[in-house]
Amino acid sequence: MSKPLILILGDQLSEALDVLASAPPNAVVALCEVKAEGDYVPHHPQKIVLILSAMRHFADTLRDKGYQVHYSALDDDDNRQDLLEEAERLADAYGCDEIRVTHPGEWRLLERIQRRGTRWRLFEDSRFYCSIADFGEWLEGRKRFRMEDFYRQMRQRTGLLMEDGEPAGGQWNFDHDNRRPLDSDLVFPTPPRHRQDEITRDVTTLVEAHFGDHFGTLEGFNWAVTRRQALTDLRHFIAQALPDFGTYQDAISDSEPLLFHSRLSASMNIGLLSPREVCEAAQTAWQQGRAPINAVEGFVRQILGWREYVRGIYWQRMPDYKRENRLDARRGLPDFYWTAETDLRCVRRALEMTRDNAHAHHIQRLMVTGNFALLCGVAPAALCDWYLAVYVDAFEWVELPNTLGMTLYADGGYLGSKPYCASGKYIDRMSDHCRHCRYDVKQVTGEHACPFNSLYWHFLDRHREQLRGNHRMKLIYGSWDRMQEDKRTAILDQAGKFIDSLTFEAAYGKGDHANGYRRR
Ligand SMILES: Cc1cc2nc3c(=O)[nH]c(=O)nc-3n(C[C@H](O)[C@H](O)[C@H](O)COP(=O)(O)OP(=O)(O)OC[C@H]3O[C@@H](n4cnc5c(N)ncnc54)[C@H](O)[C@@H]3O)c2cc1C
Ligand code: SF4
Repeated sequence: MSKPLILILGDQLSEALDVLASAPPNAVVALCEVKAEGDYVPHHPQKIVLILSAMRHFADTLRDKGYQVHYSALDDDDNRQDLLEEAERLADAYGCDEIRVTHPGEWRLLERIQRRGTRWRLFEDSRFYCSIADFGEWLEGRKRFRMEDFYRQMRQRTGLLMEDGEPAGGQWNFDHDNRRPLDSDLVFPTPPRHRQDEITRDVTTLVEAHFGDHFGTLEGFNWAVTRRQALTDLRHFIAQALPDFGTYQDAISDSEPLLFHSRLSASMNIGLLSPREVCEAAQTAWQQGRAPINAVEGFVRQILGWREYVRGIYWQRMPDYKRENRLDARRGLPDFYWTAETDLRCVRRALEMTRDNAHAHHIQRLMVTGNFALLCGVAPAALCDWYLAVYVDAFEWVELPNTLGMTLYADGGYLGSKPYCASGKYIDRMSDHCRHCRYDVKQVTGEHACPFNSLYWHFLDRHREQLRGNHRMKLIYGSWDRMQEDKRTAILDQAGKFIDSLTFEAAYGKGDHANGYRRR
């Protein structure tokens, strides 16, 4: 009888994995902490603590269920410190003839596994609603492959928020109800505080010793490291935040990091929660009258729609996708992305929250730090490395399409129909940052002018050839063209001088791609 080693990766901590269901009684289940996975980009220390602590807790859960578990700790003397080499060492030590593993979330790892030969056997990652093959079928032969079309098909296929074949509430999309800016009298729910047990404390000490030089603090660590804690977060979100999730989905606050967001991405991405149970809990809240349809539809759209869609795009388009740079952006990262030392209040607050929580919500990632990098011409590789490193939920299958495609438009509009570029006006409308800022959001030129304003026009002007054919950009190019020549010159001059005043990390050449990073 074959004896398999079942390798469980740090973002696959779910008892429902097919690979575990396949385990014969003699199987050895292995979980391996290795240095190579912890520092191929300088992951935020909170992200490393989360993954290592969750892995150690999960190993205990599997032992309690009767599995024979081998756990390779980071500081074990014989640890090979490389995931695949460590798995092969264990397979030899336990006399296993096969290594079974669930499809990883990164092309880099998949490619390495596939090169290893027939001893390795891949299993489907059934945690997703849509398999990679099904997404490929959906894509095939399509001229239009917008998220909205995919999402509607997924609603029909799963029956989520459907009534007699029609969308619940009579509409597929409630986005127009979901764009309220921040109101000053809002009260935000406080997330549950998770107890840190001995496992988490041990891991924290280990991470401080091995990865203490990475960007980010550990003091505020409050991530769910067990399924039980993740379920507490889910219940809290559904009861306290979901009802307002939709309305304030796009708002940004100078003081409040989370607003009504769920903070569930990390738990879903590492396997502590399944996207199915999360979407179903939201649907039940709506059915029981505990949350309005605009909130529940908006939330389900993020998971059943965007989350599944970006994963599909990632696996269809890799490895070439990672090398895309259609706007030919070459700059390195502004150095203050690693220090948060900037006078741009909105950017500073997003960076400080990132440093302190290993999290920033979607609009901060897209319209503040992402938008600023887009306007400055930061290279996709530089920005992707940063996003992959600093967010607790960052795994390449979801980070790359969001950063390279959605935020930087580096795929030429494959993922988004137009660049998400914006001036200070947008940030002022959606947030309360500008009143705390040293810059004046109403001014475009002059000493106190908000840099986003001139950078916005500079971006549009330098990419005119690529963007002017886009019918969604016609209006804005019309405004630019109608401006007086001397005003346009002054704006471009202002933006040029601002860019010159920044310090960027080393430039990225054409064709460079991720994982060239600097430690902090
Ligand atoms: C530049 C950039 C990089 C990003 N990188 C990541 C990443 O590495 N990992 C990650 O999980 N999300 C990423 N996102 C998407 C999104 O910002 C996060 O999922 C979200 O902020 C997580 O916080 P939350 O759980 O409170 O989300 P909520 O606002 O509560 O949303 C609910 C859930 O919907 C899903 N979701 C929402 N938006 C997206 C999206 N655009 N793509 C995929 N899933 C989505 C997430 O699972 C999230 O937990 C990125 C977005 C941008 C613009
Ligand atoms: S004025 Fe400009 S830089 Fe300052 S917070 Fe507002 S948008 Fe950001």
